[in-house]
Amino acid sequence: MTKVVIVGAGVAGINAATKLVDNNFEGNIVIIDMGKNPYDRLPEEVMTGMLGAGGWSDGKLTYHTSIGGQLSKYCGDEKAMELMDQVINNFKRFHPKPEEVQCSNPVAEPDFIKPYFGLRLFPVWHVGTDYLHEIGKNWYDYLVDNGVEFVWETKVVDINFETQQAFIEPEGQPYGYFNYDTLIFGVGKSGIDFGKQLAERYELPTEPKSVQIGVRFEAPQKHFQKLIDVSYDFKLYRKYDDKGVSLRSFCTNNNAAYVAAEHTYGDISYNGHAKKDESYRNDMTNFGILMEIRGIDKPFDWSRAAVEKLQHEGVGLFYSPSQRVPSKTSEGDYVKTHVVNSMDPLWEAIGDYASYIHEFIEDMEKVFPTLGKDWGIYMPEVKYLSPEPLVNYEDLSLTRFPNVHFVGDALSARGITVSGAQGTYVAEALLIDEDHKEKIKKYPDFIENIEF
Ligand SMILES: Cc1cc2nc3c(=O)[nH]c(=O)nc-3n(C[C@H](O)[C@H](O)[C@H](O)COP(=O)(O)OP(=O)(O)OC[C@H]3O[C@@H](n4cnc5c(N)ncnc54)[C@H](O)[C@@H]3O)c2cc1C
Repeated sequence: MTKVVIVGAGVAGINAATKLVDNNFEGNIVIIDMGKNPYDRLPEEVMTGMLGAGGWSDGKLTYHTSIGGQLSKYCGDEKAMELMDQVINNFKRFHPKPEEVQCSNPVAEPDFIKPYFGLRLFPVWHVGTDYLHEIGKNWYDYLVDNGVEFVWETKVVDINFETQQAFIEPEGQPYGYFNYDTLIFGVGKSGIDFGKQLAERYELPTEPKSVQIGVRFEAPQKHFQKLIDVSYDFKLYRKYDDKGVSLRSFCTNNNAAYVAAEHTYGDISYNGHAKKDESYRNDMTNFGILMEIRGIDKPFDWSRAAVEKLQHEGVGLFYSPSQRVPSKTSEGDYVKTHVVNSMDPLWEAIGDYASYIHEFIEDMEKVFPTLGKDWGIYMPEVKYLSPEPLVNYEDLSLTRFPNVHFVGDALSARGITVSGAQGTYVAEALLIDEDHKEKIKKYPDFIENIEF
């Protein structure tokens, strides 16, 4: 019986397993994750455990082929939309109150943001962090009831693609391993270093990547309400094509909006999420101002060096021109950050690229007249785009190891819907394979007639 080992119980891995289970896949499915099951996972465990970073995120499910990373390039636009539908339906299916999943779908750019910004128009479903926990539990129960084996609090520390073994280090236990026939590698951002190590060791060919760096901007929501009424997760953008730079507002959170510290490579960077429950309302808005810079040699090393420069005694930095103070997390503690009295550290970390972020904020002050200096920024926000291994586009398998499939943020995704869609896409390919093998057994001449 085929043994599928999924490394990472994140959005990508869980959607892959669900597609297999829903289609009565005959093999064994084992999911290994270094985090906890949804019943034991703590709010501060932002990146690990059931549904991965997606399980403690804001749960904004974006629905557009140019948002959230790469999908269409593998399967075309039409298939990409269909895969994203499947992921959104899964989130609704395991939701205790699916009718509460709201969709925002702006159809026109409002005049008042022109000529300073463009606005990306796309639908987004908003789930909210608190419901995600409940979804995680229902989803987990469904997979366990259908025979999926979960191995929690266990880190995969090495994988031998040749002998087909995933080596694990369960807490306090001796080193062990799982054999696999098929491996789905969905370790997300928290496993990006691991993916990079494997790519280097096996000299996997990769696709070129850009730098994605910026700040998390925070202000009272009232200043942005006019735009939020048009688009909940508004994406303001601008491009400097001649400089290889583009900027966008990213992952906007409103109403009960909290800034979260992310731990990556021992450094702190920032992100945000929002709660649905009214008791958490703080009437704040936060979003990333994220800059994509193309053409930087070794973008990964460049980003890491910049992030390191924005650390002070183990935390990132906060600046406000109006003496705003860092806000509290949804657990009631202040966001871990060090307050500085200017944006200078940003210039020191990323050089003149900081001027694009400065201008973006200045222009927001013009477009949103009540904003003035009533804002603060957490530095840095970063998206480490791991070197993207070259995969076969029809099933996201490594060109050198066709039974190893990379999915989600570990491949080229940057959001929940695309990560889940990549997991689903791989599962569909495995199901075709399985179906194919079965038919060959039953009808030996089948292979002559099938077209792939
Ligand atoms: C605070 C926050 C808010 C976000 N909000 C949104 C949002 O609103 N909308 C959106 O689209 N995206 C959002 N994102 C991004 C989104 O969560 C990710 O893009 C998505 O979860 C990626 O899915 P994935 O399956 O690739 O990885 P993940 O969901 O990160 O899952 C990876 C899993 O792998 C496990 N793992 C890693 N390394 C190992 C190892 N060596 N051994 C065993 N297990 C391992 C981790 O424990 C984790 O559970 C947010 C992210 C954060 C951090």
